[in-house]
Order: sequence, then C-alpha cells, then structure tokens
Amino acid sequence: MDFSIPRHVEAIAHRVRQFVDDEVLPVETELLRTNTDLNADILQELRAKARAAKLWAPTMPKAWGGMGLNIQEIVPVFEAAGRSMLGPLAIHCAAPDEGNMHLLHNWADEAQTERYLVPLANGDTFSAFSMTEPPPGAGSDPRMIQTRADRDGGDWVINGHKWLTTNGEIADFFIIMAVTDPAVHPYQGCTQFLAPRETPGIKILRDVPVMGTKDFGGHVEILYEDVRLPDSAILGEAGQGFMLAQSRLGPARLTHCMRWTGIAQRALEIATDYAAEREAFGGALTSHQSIQWMLADSEMELKMGRLLIQEAAWLLAQGEQARVETSIAKVQVSEIVSRVLDRCVQICGGRGISRDLPLSGWYEKARAFRIYDGASEVHRMVVARDVIKRYGAENQG
Ligand SMILES: Cc1cc2nc3c(=O)[nH]c(=O)nc-3n(C[C@H](O)[C@H](O)[C@H](O)COP(=O)(O)OP(=O)(O)OC[C@H]3O[C@@H](n4cnc5c(N)ncnc54)[C@H](O)[C@@H]3O)c2cc1C
Repeated sequence: MDFSIPRHVEAIAHRVRQFVDDEVLPVETELLRTNTDLNADILQELRAKARAAKLWAPTMPKAWGGMGLNIQEIVPVFEAAGRSMLGPLAIHCAAPDEGNMHLLHNWADEAQTERYLVPLANGDTFSAFSMTEPPPGAGSDPRMIQTRADRDGGDWVINGHKWLTTNGEIADFFIIMAVTDPAVHPYQGCTQFLAPRETPGIKILRDVPVMGTKDFGGHVEILYEDVRLPDSAILGEAGQGFMLAQSRLGPARLTHCMRWTGIAQRALEIATDYAAEREAFGGALTSHQSIQWMLADSEMELKMGRLLIQEAAWLLAQGEQARVETSIAKVQVSEIVSRVLDRCVQICGGRGISRDLPLSGWYEKARAFRIYDGASEVHRMVVARDVIKRYGAENQG
C-alpha cells in the first residue's frame, strides 16, 4: 500500500487550510458570536472567494472548474476543508452535494449531465438524495423500501413517504429511490429517479428538527404523491438502484470520515491551547497527567482513524469495492470523533460547554455521524459477516 501524498496534493491541502484559516474561520466566529445560522448570501460570498482562489469542487474534473482529484488525493484536502463545518460548503465538497456529484459523474447520461451535474458542479444548484423512510419503511434495512414507482402509459408514477432528506429545503432536484419491480428482490427491483423540485406531487411536509444547530438545507420529510416522471428521469437503468446507491454510499462514508477528522483535529488543537493557558492546582492543566492522557488518547486515535481512511481510499483508488474496509473506517472514525470531542469539551470545562467555542456545537452534531450513512451496528454487522465467512467452521482446515 502506498499512502504517500503527492507534493501537488500536499500543496493544495495547505492552500485549503490557509483559506479556511483566513476566510472561513472569521465567518464561523461571527456566526457563533451572534448565534446566527448560515444563510445563502454568506455562503455565496465564501464560495466566490474559494473560486477566486481556485479552490473549488475538489472531485470534479478540471474542465468544469474543479480540481480533478481522486479518492486518495482528497483525503488531506477534505480534512483541511473540514476544520470548520463551513469549509466543505465553501469549497464545494460538503454532503450531500459531493456524494451526489460523484453519483451523477459515474452514472448520468449526456442529457442528465448537462441538465443536473454541470450546474451542480458549478455551484448554481443544490441536490438531495432521498432514500430513508419513516417506519415501517427503509432505514437501516434498505430492503424495506416502500416507495413505489409504477408504470402508467409511457411514464413512471412515484408514491411514497421519505424523511431526513438532507438539503430538502433548498434542493433544485431530488434523487429518489423507489421500487419499480416488486416481484423481484429489492436489490434488483429498485431504481433511482431524478426529479426537479418543481415536479407536481413533491410535497415538503417539514424540516425535521435535529440535534444541534440547524443545518443549512435542512433534513426534510417529504410526501411523493403521484409524481409523474418520464423514462429519461432514470439514473443508470431500471433495477440498478441499489447498485448505484452502493457506489454512492461507499465513498460518501469515507468523505464524511475525512471531513470529521478535520473537525476533531481542530478540537484537539483548541483544547490543547486552552489546557496550556489555563492554570489549576498550581500549574497549567497540561501539567496534570489525566489531561495529558486525554490529549494523548485523542492524538493516537486520530492517527488510527486517518490510517483506516487511507487504507479504504487506497483500495477504492485501485478499483476495489472496499466494502469491509469502508465499514471499519466509518465505525471507528465516527466513534473516535465522538470520543475526541467529548474529551475536548471536558478539558475546556465551562468554556467547552459554552457557545464561545465551537466545541459544544460540534459535539452535538457529531452524534448523528454514528447513525447516518449506516449506524455503527450495521457496519459492525458487515464486518462480522466477513469475519464469519473467512474464519467460520466450514472454512477451517
Ligand atoms: C442528520 C441526518 C441526515 C440524514 N440524511 C439523509 C439523506 O440525505 N438521505 C437519506 O436517504 N437518509 C438520510 N438520513 C437517514 C439515515 O441514513 C438513517 O437515519 C440511517 O440509515 C438509520 O436508519 P433509521 O433512522 O431508520 O434507523 P433504524 O433502522 O430505525 O435503526 C435504529 C437503530 O437500530 C440499530 N440497528 C439497526 N440495525 C441493526 C442491526 N442489524 N443490529 C443491531 N442494531 C441495529 C441501530 O442502533 C440504529 O441506530 C439522515 C439521518 C440523519 C440523522
């Protein structure tokens, strides 16, 4: 395995970090100070600066104004952007648009590329991926999907109930997962459809309030009622929905890990800084062993997390599916990030809980990371299945 970072990628990561420090952190500080949510005007201003600095859409082709980086090359770049929640939004590598761009880049036909991907890559539109349903529909077990797309004349008519569709408040189009052939297993009987927001029958019921401060774009609950779409709305082919979902979610899980490592790294720096300045019981907090151990454990765990991300990214770059390695990285990094943020809040005491620092907001937001894109238990199940297959009784001796 080769985890070395090419010099040109190192230079890009350095420039992204500088951009986040110079342009993004002052905005983050001001939003925190005034207890204000990010809005479209502030985001567009940041994006204009990112484009001017030629730090735009790391995964998109250079011909479209992107940086043309592959999955392995983006590891340090996404971490640098992820040092602030606003960084990935500014340079256009935030979820879910980044995962949707990857999906469309691989599967959209020419007309879909022109209509949906080019404007999205350019930052002119937003997108949403609509798969999860409230009980009794698809959640951890996506095979329980209930949303149906039925043939009517030459069209498809979609009916279903989804929720937690991120970006649903602002998305210009939705990628909707629906059953098109109930007679076969869902893995062969589901299809992804591209639906412009203005399509009749797309009813946004509400933005689901979630833990932590409000996310730009929200996580909405939607009714799809007689949403009529032509064949040309199908992404890939009918019946390929799950295959496409897997091709999107594998890398998307890793990119979440990359961005969150940036947040945890910055949290460690903030906590170390506080501990070095703050005195208690006759010396700086850094002189107390229990604080040192929290710092050391965080540093060690972040290093392990990075190596797991790099291993899975390297495998994906070789054309492997890296299903198990991606699950291992997702479980470990999401849990490491939670532990690091918990320790950093503890080290900073009352200031850690206050909104004067970004730590408490990150701590709240990080909780969802152990649930979205597959709960830890589900990824452990994937790993366990592989263990049992490889070491189980029938494979012995
Ligand atoms: C902030 C946020 C953003 C999201 N954005 C999107 C989006 O853009 N698009 C989208 O389609 N979805 C999105 N989701 C949905 C997310 O992917 C689901 O919440 C997730 O897949 C889990 O499904 P569920 O909530 O239905 O949990 P359930 O399926 O009800 O599971 C509940 C819990 O049961 C446990 N569990 C499940 N399976 C097992 C098992 N095999 N063994 C042991 N325990 C198990 C886990 O602890 C799990 O957390 C988002 C969720 C959140 C929180």
